Amino acid sequence: MGQYGVASIVIIEDEQRIRALVTRVLSERGYEVRASATALDGLRTIVDTSPDLVILDLGLPDLDGMELLKMIRAVTDVPVIVATARGEDRDVVRTLDLGADDHLVKPFSVEQLEARVRAVLRRTSGGQREERIVVGALVVDVAAREVTLDGDAIHLSPKEFDLLAYLAERSGEVVSKRQLLAEVWRQPWGGSDKTVDVHLSWLRKKLGESAAESCYLQTVHGVGIKLVEPF
Ligand code: CA
Repeated sequence: MGQYGVASIVIIEDEQRIRALVTRVLSERGYEVRASATALDGLRTIVDTSPDLVILDLGLPDLDGMELLKMIRAVTDVPVIVATARGEDRDVVRTLDLGADDHLVKPFSVEQLEARVRAVLRRTSGGQREERIVVGALVVDVAAREVTLDGDAIHLSPKEFDLLAYLAERSGEVVSKRQLLAEVWRQPWGGSDKTVDVHLSWLRKKLGESAAESCYLQTVHGVGIKLVEPF
Protein backbone atom coordinates (compact mmCIF):
# COMPACT_ATOMS: atom_id res chain seq x y z
CA MET A 1 0.00 0.00 0.00
CA GLY A 2 1.09 3.56 -0.56
CA GLN A 3 1.39 6.27 2.04
CA TYR A 4 -1.07 6.06 4.96
CA GLY A 5 -2.25 2.63 3.81
CA VAL A 6 -4.21 4.09 0.87
CA ALA A 7 -4.00 2.00 -2.29
CA SER A 8 -2.70 3.99 -5.25
CA ILE A 9 -4.02 3.34 -8.74
CA VAL A 10 -2.85 4.52 -12.15
CA ILE A 11 -5.46 4.53 -14.89
CA ILE A 12 -4.32 4.72 -18.50
CA GLU A 13 -7.27 5.61 -20.70
CA ASP A 14 -7.47 7.96 -23.67
CA GLU A 15 -11.21 8.49 -23.54
CA GLN A 16 -11.65 11.60 -21.45
CA ARG A 17 -15.17 10.74 -20.25
CA ILE A 18 -14.21 7.30 -18.90
CA ARG A 19 -10.94 8.60 -17.46
CA ALA A 20 -12.70 11.36 -15.55
CA LEU A 21 -15.51 9.12 -14.31
CA VAL A 22 -13.23 6.33 -13.07
CA THR A 23 -10.85 8.84 -11.46
CA ARG A 24 -13.69 10.63 -9.67
CA VAL A 25 -15.47 7.51 -8.41
CA LEU A 26 -12.34 5.67 -7.27
CA SER A 27 -11.06 8.85 -5.56
CA GLU A 28 -14.38 9.19 -3.74
CA ARG A 29 -14.04 5.59 -2.56
CA GLY A 30 -10.69 6.42 -0.98
CA TYR A 31 -8.14 5.40 -3.60
CA GLU A 32 -5.28 7.64 -4.65
CA VAL A 33 -5.76 7.87 -8.41
CA ARG A 34 -3.46 9.20 -11.12
CA ALA A 35 -4.68 9.29 -14.70
CA SER A 36 -2.79 9.22 -17.98
CA ALA A 37 -4.20 9.68 -21.47
CA THR A 38 -1.31 8.08 -23.33
CA ALA A 39 0.73 4.89 -23.02
CA LEU A 40 4.05 6.64 -22.56
CA ASP A 41 2.77 9.07 -19.97
CA GLY A 42 1.20 6.10 -18.17
CA LEU A 43 4.44 4.12 -18.19
CA ARG A 44 6.31 7.12 -16.81
CA THR A 45 3.72 7.55 -14.05
CA ILE A 46 4.00 3.86 -13.12
CA VAL A 47 7.79 4.05 -12.92
CA ASP A 48 7.70 7.31 -10.95
CA THR A 49 5.00 6.44 -8.43
CA SER A 50 5.10 2.60 -8.01
CA PRO A 51 1.31 2.26 -7.75
CA ASP A 52 -0.47 -0.69 -6.12
CA LEU A 53 -2.56 -1.32 -9.23
CA VAL A 54 -2.89 -0.27 -12.88
CA ILE A 55 -6.07 -0.05 -14.96
CA LEU A 56 -5.13 -0.24 -18.61
CA ASP A 57 -7.11 0.51 -21.76
CA LEU A 58 -5.83 -1.35 -24.82
CA GLY A 59 -6.81 1.16 -27.53
CA LEU A 60 -4.39 4.00 -26.87
CA PRO A 61 -3.32 6.69 -29.35
CA ASP A 62 0.45 6.34 -29.14
CA LEU A 63 1.02 2.63 -28.53
CA ASP A 64 -1.07 -0.54 -28.43
CA GLY A 65 -2.03 -1.45 -24.87
CA MET A 66 -0.69 -4.99 -25.36
CA GLU A 67 2.73 -3.52 -26.13
CA LEU A 68 2.46 -1.29 -23.10
CA LEU A 69 1.51 -4.29 -20.94
CA LYS A 70 4.72 -6.02 -22.07
CA MET A 71 6.73 -2.92 -21.17
CA ILE A 72 5.06 -2.69 -17.77
CA ARG A 73 5.80 -6.36 -17.09
CA ALA A 74 9.44 -5.80 -18.01
CA VAL A 75 9.83 -3.31 -15.16
CA THR A 76 7.32 -4.26 -12.45
CA ASP A 77 4.99 -6.93 -11.06
CA VAL A 78 2.27 -4.35 -10.31
CA PRO A 79 -1.19 -5.90 -10.74
CA VAL A 80 -2.85 -4.83 -13.99
CA ILE A 81 -6.56 -4.86 -14.85
CA VAL A 82 -7.11 -4.54 -18.58
CA ALA A 83 -10.26 -2.56 -19.36
CA THR A 84 -11.10 -2.63 -23.02
CA ALA A 85 -13.71 -2.73 -25.74
CA ARG A 86 -12.03 -5.83 -27.13
CA GLY A 87 -13.92 -8.74 -25.67
CA GLU A 88 -12.94 -11.55 -28.00
CA ASP A 89 -11.71 -14.68 -26.27
CA ARG A 90 -8.33 -14.51 -27.93
CA ASP A 91 -7.80 -10.93 -26.71
CA VAL A 92 -8.68 -11.92 -23.15
CA VAL A 93 -6.37 -14.94 -23.30
CA ARG A 94 -3.59 -12.84 -24.80
CA THR A 95 -3.72 -10.12 -22.13
CA LEU A 96 -3.77 -12.73 -19.36
CA ASP A 97 -0.82 -14.49 -21.01
CA LEU A 98 1.04 -11.19 -21.09
CA GLY A 99 0.60 -10.91 -17.35
CA ALA A 100 -2.66 -9.03 -16.80
CA ASP A 101 -4.33 -9.95 -13.51
CA ASP A 102 -7.89 -9.39 -14.71
CA HIS A 103 -9.80 -8.32 -17.80
CA LEU A 104 -12.89 -6.15 -17.96
CA VAL A 105 -14.87 -5.64 -21.16
CA LYS A 106 -16.41 -2.24 -21.97
CA PRO A 107 -18.97 -1.03 -21.31
CA PHE A 108 -18.53 -1.78 -17.61
CA SER A 109 -20.06 -0.13 -14.59
CA VAL A 110 -17.82 1.65 -12.12
CA GLU A 111 -19.16 -0.69 -9.40
CA GLN A 112 -17.99 -3.65 -11.45
CA LEU A 113 -14.58 -2.07 -11.88
CA GLU A 114 -14.27 -1.28 -8.20
CA ALA A 115 -15.19 -4.84 -7.25
CA ARG A 116 -12.40 -6.12 -9.53
CA VAL A 117 -9.97 -3.57 -8.05
CA ARG A 118 -10.80 -4.74 -4.53
CA ALA A 119 -10.47 -8.41 -5.46
CA VAL A 120 -7.12 -7.96 -7.20
CA LEU A 121 -5.72 -5.83 -4.36
CA ARG A 122 -6.88 -8.36 -1.77
CA ARG A 123 -5.23 -11.17 -3.71
CA THR A 124 -1.96 -9.38 -4.37
CA SER A 125 -1.32 -7.39 -1.20
CA GLY A 126 -2.16 -10.28 1.13
CA GLY A 127 0.10 -12.57 -0.85
CA GLN A 128 3.08 -10.26 -1.02
CA ARG A 129 3.14 -9.60 2.67
CA GLU A 130 3.25 -13.21 3.71
CA GLU A 131 5.23 -14.82 0.93
CA ARG A 132 8.62 -13.23 1.43
CA ILE A 133 9.85 -11.88 4.73
CA VAL A 134 13.01 -9.80 4.84
CA VAL A 135 14.80 -9.18 8.14
CA GLY A 136 18.16 -7.51 7.61
CA ALA A 137 20.17 -9.77 5.29
CA LEU A 138 17.90 -12.72 6.02
CA VAL A 139 15.18 -13.54 3.48
CA VAL A 140 12.53 -16.14 4.27
CA ASP A 141 10.47 -17.10 1.23
CA VAL A 142 7.49 -18.77 2.86
CA ALA A 143 5.83 -19.83 -0.39
CA ALA A 144 8.97 -21.42 -1.85
CA ARG A 145 10.22 -22.58 1.59
CA GLU A 146 13.65 -21.12 0.88
CA VAL A 147 15.93 -19.11 3.10
CA THR A 148 18.91 -16.99 2.12
CA LEU A 149 21.35 -15.09 4.28
CA ASP A 150 23.44 -12.43 2.54
CA GLY A 151 22.22 -14.01 -0.69
CA ASP A 152 23.48 -17.51 0.17
CA ALA A 153 20.97 -20.36 0.42
CA ILE A 154 20.60 -21.86 3.89
CA HIS A 155 19.44 -25.48 3.98
CA LEU A 156 17.00 -26.13 6.80
CA SER A 157 15.04 -29.18 7.91
CA PRO A 158 11.26 -28.78 7.58
CA LYS A 159 10.88 -28.09 11.31
CA GLU A 160 13.76 -25.61 11.38
CA PHE A 161 12.13 -23.82 8.48
CA ASP A 162 8.72 -23.72 10.21
CA LEU A 163 10.36 -22.35 13.35
CA LEU A 164 12.28 -19.66 11.48
CA ALA A 165 9.25 -18.66 9.38
CA TYR A 166 7.09 -18.41 12.51
CA LEU A 167 9.63 -16.13 14.19
CA ALA A 168 10.23 -14.11 11.01
CA GLU A 169 6.51 -13.44 10.62
CA ARG A 170 6.66 -11.93 14.12
CA SER A 171 10.09 -10.32 13.92
CA GLY A 172 10.81 -7.99 16.83
CA GLU A 173 8.18 -9.78 18.96
CA VAL A 174 9.12 -12.08 21.85
CA VAL A 175 7.64 -15.54 21.37
CA SER A 176 7.52 -18.01 24.27
CA LYS A 177 8.65 -21.62 23.96
CA ARG A 178 5.16 -22.68 25.01
CA GLN A 179 3.77 -20.73 22.06
CA LEU A 180 6.29 -22.33 19.70
CA LEU A 181 5.38 -25.80 20.94
CA ALA A 182 1.71 -25.04 20.43
CA GLU A 183 1.96 -23.33 17.05
CA VAL A 184 5.00 -24.86 15.35
CA TRP A 185 4.97 -28.33 16.92
CA ARG A 186 1.18 -28.48 17.38
CA GLN A 187 1.62 -29.63 20.97
CA PRO A 188 -0.42 -27.11 22.94
CA TRP A 189 -0.43 -29.12 26.16
CA GLY A 190 2.63 -31.29 25.86
CA GLY A 191 6.12 -31.25 24.51
CA SER A 192 9.29 -30.15 26.16
CA ASP A 193 11.14 -26.85 26.04
CA LYS A 194 14.17 -29.00 25.23
CA THR A 195 12.69 -29.71 21.78
CA VAL A 196 12.57 -25.98 21.06
CA ASP A 197 16.05 -25.42 22.50
CA VAL A 198 17.57 -28.13 20.32
CA HIS A 199 15.99 -26.82 17.13
CA LEU A 200 16.97 -23.27 18.01
CA SER A 201 20.56 -24.30 18.48
CA TRP A 202 20.59 -26.07 15.10
CA LEU A 203 19.01 -23.05 13.50
CA ARG A 204 21.56 -20.75 15.11
CA LYS A 205 24.41 -22.90 13.85
CA LYS A 206 23.04 -22.73 10.29
CA LEU A 207 22.71 -18.96 10.55
CA GLY A 208 26.30 -18.79 11.76
CA GLU A 209 25.56 -17.71 15.32
CA SER A 210 25.27 -19.15 18.83
CA ALA A 211 23.27 -18.42 21.98
CA ALA A 212 26.31 -16.69 23.46
CA GLU A 213 26.92 -14.66 20.32
CA SER A 214 23.46 -14.14 18.96
CA CYS A 215 22.71 -12.10 15.87
CA TYR A 216 19.20 -12.71 14.56
CA LEU A 217 17.90 -15.06 17.24
CA GLN A 218 17.89 -13.39 20.63
CA THR A 219 16.95 -15.12 23.84
CA VAL A 220 14.89 -13.03 26.23
CA HIS A 221 15.62 -14.80 29.51
CA GLY A 222 12.61 -16.17 31.29
CA VAL A 223 10.30 -15.08 28.46
CA GLY A 224 11.27 -16.62 25.14
CA ILE A 225 12.97 -15.84 21.90
CA LYS A 226 12.73 -13.15 19.23
CA LEU A 227 14.05 -12.73 15.76
CA VAL A 228 15.56 -9.30 15.28
CA GLU A 229 17.38 -7.33 12.64
CA PRO A 230 21.02 -7.21 13.82
CA PHE A 231 22.62 -3.85 14.53
CA1 CA B 1 -9.23 3.79 -25.85
